[in-house]
Amino acid sequence: MLGHQLIGGRRRRGSSPTAAAVVDPATGQTVVELDLADAADVAAAVEAARAALPEWAGATPAERSGALTRLAARLEEISAELALVETRQTGKPIRLAREFDVPGTVDNAAFFAGAARALEGKASGEYSADHTSAVRREPIGVVGSIAPWNYPLQMAGWKIFPAVAAGNTIVIKPSELTPLTTLMLAEAARDAGIPDGVVNVVTGPGAVVGEALICHPDVDMVSFTGSSRVGRRVMQLASEGPRGPRRVHLELGGKAPFVVFDDADLDAAVHGAVAGALINAGQDCTAATRAYVQAPLYDAFVDGVADLMRGVRIGDPRDPSTDLGPLVSRAQQARVAGFVDRAVAVGAKTVVGGRAPGGDLGVGAYYEPTLVVAAAQDSEIAREEVFGPVLVVLPFTSDDEGLALANDTPYGLAASAWTRDVFRALRATREIAAGCVWVNDHIPIVSEMPHGGYKASGFGKDMSAYSLEEYTNVKHVMFDRTGTATKAWHRTVFSTR
Ligand code: NAD
Repeated sequence: MLGHQLIGGRRRRGSSPTAAAVVDPATGQTVVELDLADAADVAAAVEAARAALPEWAGATPAERSGALTRLAARLEEISAELALVETRQTGKPIRLAREFDVPGTVDNAAFFAGAARALEGKASGEYSADHTSAVRREPIGVVGSIAPWNYPLQMAGWKIFPAVAAGNTIVIKPSELTPLTTLMLAEAARDAGIPDGVVNVVTGPGAVVGEALICHPDVDMVSFTGSSRVGRRVMQLASEGPRGPRRVHLELGGKAPFVVFDDADLDAAVHGAVAGALINAGQDCTAATRAYVQAPLYDAFVDGVADLMRGVRIGDPRDPSTDLGPLVSRAQQARVAGFVDRAVAVGAKTVVGGRAPGGDLGVGAYYEPTLVVAAAQDSEIAREEVFGPVLVVLPFTSDDEGLALANDTPYGLAASAWTRDVFRALRATREIAAGCVWVNDHIPIVSEMPHGGYKASGFGKDMSAYSLEEYTNVKHVMFDRTGTATKAWHRTVFSTR
């Protein structure tokens, strides 16, 4: 067996004496026995990334762009297999993997291939009469990245492509639940001619492998996507140790509001809410989780969402007609059930769902699409990230109240506003504190536009030219233009001259 670490271009087994399994959450069966890294493997991966850095950082943008273009083509070639493996390790419907995860990743690689050649900086010029200034954008060095399990391939791409496009090398730790497509992506990078050591993968639990990576003194930047809870720890660790504070890029949790004003297209809002809440079984950091609906539309909205949710086909994720697969694991299933059960215990009601299905689906980590009403705004279900197929709907009266409720959260990743009134739309997009506000839609993303949070949802952007910039250091270079020994500003030091 090849092993599940990719270090310096070679697959090898991890040195940890413990092993784990990648489990298909639809069946509970083991997909693969996983060997795990330990701190020595992390150190070897960081060393490989450091050794590869001078050549890769010194490559021209055109060379890096060419390699990423070949990588996009290679990913396209293996797209059917990538989709299948993604579905097996996460339980997401194959339709989603084929139509969103994999093509999105191919497009992202192609975008960063282009962006590698188009880094922007301030114009060089004379900002002081006696000097010419220039700005250099330089790679930061070795990036340590940590990714979650909900979109493993896309998250790996969002971390690897901009880092590598900007001339950095990287060691990435995928979630221990879903490492397989990250390994496939890193091997595709090697097959595309990206030099050995530029992209390295170590697998294992966050508390061991993740922390060893963050704390490694030769890691120059830490980029993390995951929960706000772990994000806090990552930031703390990245500021400690002999290397002192390092650049940290954090993409954290969300609790996206979905605000429906009374002039909205009801049918569009109902479809948008169900799609936005159930995509990837709700295991999406931008998922529609809290719908606030203005009073005149509230009852019709609840009825419409309930009808649509009841028609969702839940089942085998490998069947292209399946709309909703299982959650990623039994643990996640229990977590989601716990949120809903506690909500009901304090007065909320489930209109649809609220339980794990039985029968044939009992072997998997399934949870029914769930519509919750009558929850209090300050209750756990309305405030915490559930990360399951659960939508809470709450009424509001005035526009002021709707927007205040939308902002009444520690998170700020994404939101949407539903209205046909341009002034309401403008007000909502200005006043909702989130990294993305959609108008009359919820979820779509594009490689050219930034994705990232406000508030406890983190900082730093993924995708887009903004992300590329995050993986660079900005250096000011200043040339004296006078050629004289005594500069004009020396008067401030040598008072007698
Ligand atoms: P998580 O925070 O539990 O784990 C994320 C990663 O961190 C995993 O690889 C895990 O092994 C690692 N980790 C755990 N403890 C660690 C530690 N002490 N030190 C270092 N690494 C550690 O998150 P998850 O359950 O895998 O993913 C779901 C979360 O990710 C949700 O909160 C979701 O909103 C968030 N997410 C955010 C975005 C975004 O772009 N903002 C995108 C996807 C997911």
